[in-house]
Amino acid sequence: MRKASIVSIGNELLNGQTLNTNTLYLSERLFAIGIPVVSSYTIGDDIDSIVRMLNLASGDADIVLITGGLGPTDDDLTRQGLAKFLGSELQLQNNLLEKIQSIFASRNRPMPEKNNIQAYIPAGTKAIENIRGTAPGIRAEAEDKLFFVLPGVPSEMKQMFEESVLTELKRFAGEQAIAVLKLKCFGAGESSVAEKLGGLMQRGRNPLINCTVHYGVITLTIIATAKDKVKAQQMAEKDEQTLREILGELIYGTGEQTLAEVVGAKLAQQKKTIAVAESCTGGALAKLLTDTAGASRYFTYGWVTYSNTAKIKELGIKAELIEEDGAVSCRVAEAMAQGARKRAETDFAIGITGIAGPGGGSEQKPVGLVYISIDSGNGCETKRFVFPYGRDFMRLHAAQTALNMLRLKL
Ligand code: AMP
Ligand code: MG
Repeated sequence: MRKASIVSIGNELLNGQTLNTNTLYLSERLFAIGIPVVSSYTIGDDIDSIVRMLNLASGDADIVLITGGLGPTDDDLTRQGLAKFLGSELQLQNNLLEKIQSIFASRNRPMPEKNNIQAYIPAGTKAIENIRGTAPGIRAEAEDKLFFVLPGVPSEMKQMFEESVLTELKRFAGEQAIAVLKLKCFGAGESSVAEKLGGLMQRGRNPLINCTVHYGVITLTIIATAKDKVKAQQMAEKDEQTLREILGELIYGTGEQTLAEVVGAKLAQQKKTIAVAESCTGGALAKLLTDTAGASRYFTYGWVTYSNTAKIKELGIKAELIEEDGAVSCRVAEAMAQGARKRAETDFAIGITGIAGPGGGSEQKPVGLVYISIDSGNGCETKRFVFPYGRDFMRLHAAQTALNMLRLKL
């Protein structure tokens, strides 16, 4: 199986100035044509680092994609690094020089001396045309490995990759295909999901199952590799079935689906409506629900009742209740849901109250405590959670948890 490695070159990638979007783009594109990326390296503009990394990358993979460091200035050293790695000299290519000269002529500007360097490529390599800029790319071969050097500027890199690199890579990869399926889960921790899966997550297995987590949403990625697309797809689907049997209701969706999309689709399908009354989440739940186009079919009202007065005035909660139990309590969450459902005249309403922190916690009511209540017309379901990992995490996690509770009701 053919594999790829990506080397990103540029000091700006190491000092927090530029986000390395090139690697993201190339990984995605390579994956799509069935070539897995097995490593990626980010290094500064330094000849020795470049040589070292090209050795490493070509040790890992059959194809090495390199971006950055093809500019005309003294800090761009990828050409020189590649030449040193290949053990060859940089050679002037007259056709490249003419091309660069003509670019400047067409802009009515004199060509700076510095741009001459962009007409040099290592002996024995080929230039890759750049129609958007002055820096040609370079294609090299060494010991059965393929090297493609592209400029760092994302728009130039993408155009050149699509136009001049992709076809050759497809051919080079031959008959190999990857199928990827994603399952989205909510409602259990990463380690407990992994435990349920047992040996399925073993490295080296085909399909490979990877697990990532983002604000409580667990993504299980099934990556199947086979001789052709149909076979790979079948293998991935077989694993999907197994995961569904093991994880059941924990799986809420597939692909890039969000909890809010899934909940929204269910509400729309069942012709049900929803209102929300939020305190600690400050509107995050309403935001999630309305992120999806067409949300007006089911979302009617959202209150952010942050103060006690707002809870009393807007949702009709009794002042005594807040006094007795406190604003962050099971009964207040319930009363928020009931008040919202009554006033909005919806099928469902959600009330959320909690302590986002960092201050305001106590022994009985710690920071991160949250009550979520759903009134569905035949009683309220109210749950208590503690999400102690900081204000942002707590607020988004609480809103997502509310969506998940609603999903399980629908
Ligand atoms: P260069 O080819 O080194 O002259 O790169 C030119 C510009 O492209 C840099 O100044 C960055 O802004 C951008 N760039 C370089 N490498 C990357 C990368 N890996 N991802 C995103 N942008 C990049
Ligand atoms: Mg650079």
